Amino acid sequence: MREALKIIKTRTKEEKLSNNHNETWRDWKWQVKNTIKNVDDVEKILEIRLDEKKKKQIEQTLEKFPMAVTPYYLSLIDFDNYEKDPIFKQAFPDIRELSISKCDMEDPLNEDKDSPVEGVTHRYPDRVLLHVSNVCAMYCRHCTRKRKVGDISSIPSKSEILKGIDYIRNNKNIRDVLLSGGDPFMLSDEYLEWILDEVSKIKHVEVIRIGTRTPVVLPYRITDKLVNVLKKYDNIWINTHFNHPREITKDSRIALKKLSSIGIPLGNQTVLLADVNDCPGIMKKLVHELVKNKVRPYYLYQCDLSEGLEHFRTNIGIGIEIIESLRGHTSGFAIPTYVIDAPGGGGKIPVMPNYLISWSTNKVVLRNYEGLITTYKFPDNYEHTSCDLKCDKCDLTLDLEKHKKEHTDGVASLLSDHDSSFTIVPKNLDREERNRC
Ligand code: SF4
Repeated sequence: MREALKIIKTRTKEEKLSNNHNETWRDWKWQVKNTIKNVDDVEKILEIRLDEKKKKQIEQTLEKFPMAVTPYYLSLIDFDNYEKDPIFKQAFPDIRELSISKCDMEDPLNEDKDSPVEGVTHRYPDRVLLHVSNVCAMYCRHCTRKRKVGDISSIPSKSEILKGIDYIRNNKNIRDVLLSGGDPFMLSDEYLEWILDEVSKIKHVEVIRIGTRTPVVLPYRITDKLVNVLKKYDNIWINTHFNHPREITKDSRIALKKLSSIGIPLGNQTVLLADVNDCPGIMKKLVHELVKNKVRPYYLYQCDLSEGLEHFRTNIGIGIEIIESLRGHTSGFAIPTYVIDAPGGGGKIPVMPNYLISWSTNKVVLRNYEGLITTYKFPDNYEHTSCDLKCDKCDLTLDLEKHKKEHTDGVASLLSDHDSSFTIVPKNLDREERNRC
């Protein structure tokens, strides 16, 4: 740790900006080994002294929610202004994490309940989340899985991962597998390759997604060796988690470039956090930096109702204001979908400003981002192709290979021609059935 303290403290601003790091600093294993886990070390690095009462409270917080910050991420903090720093707030514990509000939940997204076998969350019909690790390079203070991340007693074992893979193999509807945790890139290259091999062997799996924050908090993890493993698979997508434009550094750009240069589509999931990024200007800068680096802003998440996160939560209005400030004001592909992950496990619900003002039998009234109100008239002679689920007789499909119309459920069933439902009362949901098995 002493060596780490020395290196962090002696790195000048010029070094940070010029990317002039020595080999030790760039070694991801060195970064992990020298992760900062206690308040004393933070005090030494930032050259600050917390008052004794505050320090005690922070230490109490750490007993419930541990801290781990890579030297790299810590070095991004503005040492002179650390208390207001968005990097510091994501990395350093806050006594408010211990206050549990009435609506807080241990597992707000019902991930444990929507879990037919250990390590698998199966909420949507065609995709699953496979927990392969519960270790992260950094323990983000706003993490929705705080209850699990960092708990070494619940690291998924190889046999548990195999059981999850068996579940995927036996469920032909699953076409998309998200490797998550924890952070899958905290596994060794060899172990990750084994998991990717096993999942890739399943014929009905079309897409493998990996969720990782390493390009943000440990960009040196994206080594040439890791890239060589990833490039063996042609169906990998990666989602990362930048929350603030200051996190996009020369080193993170290099990491992103290594991934995009082998053709991996990159997305980003941002969590809307009070006093970190709840500002339209900050968000615009963030999405612009992301797309410059070939990362598509994918989701903007409303902060979940997990225990100890109330001080990070915003109201929904600021999220809508952010989307209002982006739509029409910047490229469409730079605008994330703002979502609330339904408490209780209903999945992501998109929310956005209202653009549809009214409609009649032959037109709709819309407004654009400037406030212009306009109409769109429906065609006089439009005839909808009514669907009876007999695709082999339908002109729309022509020779589309293996096309088969599937039954719709949920709200989509109220709109479909082949379903006579006029109301829905959700019950016997597929995901509940799966959990009963
Ligand atoms: S990297 Fe993701 S899973 Fe890990 S602590 Fe941060 S938010 Fe949680």
